[in-house]
Amino acid sequence: MSAHPDVEAVIGLEVHAELLTRAKIFCGCSAAFGGPPNTNVCPVCLGMPGMLPVLNRRVVEFAIRAGLATSCRIAERSRFARKNYFYPDLPKGYQISQYELPICIGGRIEILVDGEPRTVGLTRIHMEEDTGKNIHDAHGDASLVDFNRSGVPLLEVVSEPDMRTVEEAGAYLRTLRSILQYLEICDGNMEEGSFRCDANVSVRPRGTTALGTKAEVKNMNSFRAVERALEHEISRQTDLVQHGERVAQETRLWDADRERTRSMRSKESAHDYRYFPEPDLLPLEVCEEWVAEIRAGLPELPDARRERFVREYGLPTYDAEVLTARKDVADYFEAAVRAHANPKAISNWVMGDLLRLIRDRKLDTALVIRDWPVAPAHLATLVRLIDDDTISGKIAKTVFERMLESGQTPERIVAEQGLGQVTDTSAIDAAIASVLAANADKVAEYRGGKDKLFGFFVGQVMKATQGKANPQKVNDLLRQRLAG
Ligand SMILES: [Zn+2]
Repeated sequence: MSAHPDVEAVIGLEVHAELLTRAKIFCGCSAAFGGPPNTNVCPVCLGMPGMLPVLNRRVVEFAIRAGLATSCRIAERSRFARKNYFYPDLPKGYQISQYELPICIGGRIEILVDGEPRTVGLTRIHMEEDTGKNIHDAHGDASLVDFNRSGVPLLEVVSEPDMRTVEEAGAYLRTLRSILQYLEICDGNMEEGSFRCDANVSVRPRGTTALGTKAEVKNMNSFRAVERALEHEISRQTDLVQHGERVAQETRLWDADRERTRSMRSKESAHDYRYFPEPDLLPLEVCEEWVAEIRAGLPELPDARRERFVREYGLPTYDAEVLTARKDVADYFEAAVRAHANPKAISNWVMGDLLRLIRDRKLDTALVIRDWPVAPAHLATLVRLIDDDTISGKIAKTVFERMLESGQTPERIVAEQGLGQVTDTSAIDAAIASVLAANADKVAEYRGGKDKLFGFFVGQVMKATQGKANPQKVNDLLRQRLAG
């Protein structure tokens, strides 16, 4: 991004994370994604008059988990509030959220940007209900509403305006998603909308501390979209400021097709929503014992796991960072290392071949990898076959491809397809003899002092053996024969 030397950006992010509870936040309806429209609904989540919300305890537990994992203070007493506004996907005319007394206060997330640690502060984490979903008819003459999502529990995670670059914002989002996935409270699927991000962006002269007027950018449904939208918005505002114009306080929508943001509406302030305490729910009191119990049940988080991978497996920090970003990938790696203790080699396979596969097959949006094509024990065996010289690293790539297609064990693939390494001296010698006979002129040149030709001979012999000859043996025997 072409950052202007005299202007710096100030970025704060608001993330809405749908929680993986079975039921909705204030009724017993299923909170599952999908399903035929308007099938997971009842009078409560349809907003019928006179219906009373009942708070789902699991939602509170998940909110506390998120708060503890991000060093927030858990409020002993918090309260739900009504956020009043009209929209067709909100039949009650208000959303039940938290306002002046959220459940989690303060907190921070440690991020790595190019290997450098940074801290991003959190303002708060609060609970609220999701709205329904408007579906605009393809012909443009009707709008439909699906209320299956109405009442699905959300955590809103609000950061401090602590980020200055697009890279920091990207690292923050990825880290937050990773933490929520490790906690198993959100699947982090941006495309299905279970992890959504709005960005508050302003710019100011570098070296000043007052905040400029901010615009809120919405409608980004991938990490890539967030990064592109931020780049665009920062340069748009920088241009305005450079030309002495004012940045308007407004909400802007990211248009992914045109790669630009456009004004949606002037930004409302909190008082426009006329928040007031939700009269149908008691203030929420959380006892210390319960918080302690939840704390004791927290899993190892990505940060700690990354450090342990460096310490325990002797991996470079970069490997540890990539492997631990997703819990399922980290679990996979550890299962493979348990089967064959060569962490660095297994790390190379996971980071290279498996993660590429995840990207290519678009498995990277789900929390748990379905259709994971190669079992960890099979990958471990493949690395063992290389380590004990049964196959060469080159042939291993072929075996890996076959494992993907067939799901068979590497031993069986190697045996059935005759891919084992040729270590038999006479077979390699025969190949060398025919290569040397066919290239008598080059042999003469080599013996005349053109050492560089050695690589050529190695290549020819490997080709003659379909890549299966043991490279060390080829080298040794070739040297002997060429020494003549
Ligand atoms: Zn319901």
